[in-house]
Amino acid sequence: MPTIIFFDKKKKIYNNPISIKELIKDYNKKIYHICIAAFINNNIKDLNHLIIEDSTVKFITIYDPESIFIIRNSCLQLLTYAIKKLWIDSKIAEGNITKNGFFCDIELKKFLTKSDIITIENKMKKILKNGYDIKRKKIQVKKAIELFTVIKESYKVKILKNISKKDKKINLYYHESYFDIALSPQVPNIQFCNHFKIQKISGAYWKGNKQNKMLQRISVTAWESNKKLQQFLQKIIFLKKRDHRKINKRLNLYHIQKESPGMVFWHNNGFIIYKELKTFIRLKLKKYFYEEVHTPIIINQSMWEKSGHLDYYKESMFTTSSENRKYCLKPMNCPAHVQIFNRKLVSYKNLPIRLSEFGCCHRNESSGSLHGLLRIRSFTQDDAHIFCSIDQIQSEINNCIKMMFDVYNIFKFKKINVNFSTRPKNRIGNDLIWDQAENDLKSVLNSNNINYHHNIGEGAFYGPKIEFTLQDSLDRLWQCGTIQLDFYLPQRLNANYIDKNNKKKHPVIIHRAILGSIERFIGILLEEYAGKLPTWLSPVQVVLLTVHDKNSKYAYSLEKKLIQLNVRTKCDTRNENISTKIKEHIVCYTPYIIIIGDKEEYSSTITVRTRLGKNIKNICFNNFINALIKEITTYSNTGLEV
Ligand SMILES: [Zn+2]
Repeated sequence: MPTIIFFDKKKKIYNNPISIKELIKDYNKKIYHICIAAFINNNIKDLNHLIIEDSTVKFITIYDPESIFIIRNSCLQLLTYAIKKLWIDSKIAEGNITKNGFFCDIELKKFLTKSDIITIENKMKKILKNGYDIKRKKIQVKKAIELFTVIKESYKVKILKNISKKDKKINLYYHESYFDIALSPQVPNIQFCNHFKIQKISGAYWKGNKQNKMLQRISVTAWESNKKLQQFLQKIIFLKKRDHRKINKRLNLYHIQKESPGMVFWHNNGFIIYKELKTFIRLKLKKYFYEEVHTPIIINQSMWEKSGHLDYYKESMFTTSSENRKYCLKPMNCPAHVQIFNRKLVSYKNLPIRLSEFGCCHRNESSGSLHGLLRIRSFTQDDAHIFCSIDQIQSEINNCIKMMFDVYNIFKFKKINVNFSTRPKNRIGNDLIWDQAENDLKSVLNSNNINYHHNIGEGAFYGPKIEFTLQDSLDRLWQCGTIQLDFYLPQRLNANYIDKNNKKKHPVIIHRAILGSIERFIGILLEEYAGKLPTWLSPVQVVLLTVHDKNSKYAYSLEKKLIQLNVRTKCDTRNENISTKIKEHIVCYTPYIIIIGDKEEYSSTITVRTRLGKNIKNICFNNFINALIKEITTYSNTGLEV
């Protein structure tokens, strides 16, 4: 006689065990068609689940956030069902749910192409028309192994054999006669899986391990309603337009070629952006009292052994050798900065020492994960290491945070998210130091009125950290800045200073980066601004276009003035139609196009066309220059104010 307490606190006693399906009908028939599962004592169960004991119940409808996982999980089996119907010899390996849908890895002799996407989608839609109920059977692992062995699903057999308790029971879900192991409960009827689209087919190693066989991965987006699916597909189109690799083609910023995967060949236009960002950061380094250093890219392996990086980072490090000595390309700059610190005897009076570097680092990311500027193997970190005493942590962190916001605020991201990660279970250093460091970090965050997310236990084993994630206009998150305390590296690399009592002490190191990698940050900016970079970062800031040949002399005189003021200017005096010339330069997102015809020349004025399509007519050239210089020097991204 189970007593059921519903989510609205209503209570009812049933004489016999009751399935969730029956329970919904009894509770409120009207919601039956939108219910797909339920929380029974806080565990998600499908509608076939039989309630035999006293339980609290909350129904899950397609409008609840939990529904999407259940729908995607069911749709995943719809996909594999369709695959098996199309290619009987295929073997289903494993799938998983992703942020926008799911993927499934399969083994198939046939190499799937784009045209197969439509074939698979059509098959899924055809199956959907059967409108069947999804059934579940609970069986022992050993029984399941037998079943999958009979149908030659070798990957499923491997997965099941990894479950140590063979008498444990697992759920098999049935789509008509086709069955599979499921990640979670499934929907009651296949009709709930109506809104999907296959996005791509790619290669993937079984279990992500290069030693294993290469399989074919089918990635699908799936949603609870057609509206949600269409919204997502629209967003994809929007994102594609903003893809920095696409914008790059217009702006001619850089290229990457197969002989140097994940490494950037900067063209003049791109290198201008790179240099401007460096100059901007250098100004801030000066303001916040940093020294700038530069250290080698190739350093002997022994140093990476001493620093401990070789143990943790070996897979990601490029190595080389010369005269029987092994070297590594630095994946980070920290040990090199400690070498500079260690070169002289440091007194407590010299602390803090703030060493910054635009450090060229290399990390051996897998070739499959490389993505334009956003994921590369060779990058420039705007890195710094602050060597300080424990009682200086608070003021130094305060300095770092102020500098972070000083930099980020220029770019006007929608939001800056801050995460504060504290001591993990396994750590070095005594608890007193951790207490003080964490309290210092916390009080700095509070005194700066920063809302932060507390990640308890997520800090590194060598110290707590603060991470800064930029939220762009499309609500994508980009983790860029970090402030990481380190009690460990000074010990490993024997960094010391002499304290007030003439005793040797290890300093604390604060690792901090603001933009992260300059290359990646440029990729982020290109996408955030959709190519229309603020004028101070634009490779070409002003283009002068002549209407007639005879206006060339006047145009060149204006160009000369602009160049003298360090405004990046181009002059287009070609004998082309003016509207053709305008169109060509609009494509490159040039902030200001100046049109010079007879009228302008006689009145010593100019007509300015902004890249947003605004025309400013008959403006005095000097007024334009003053407004432009103000816009550039204040790093404005709101455009010209005249
Ligand atoms: Zn570091």
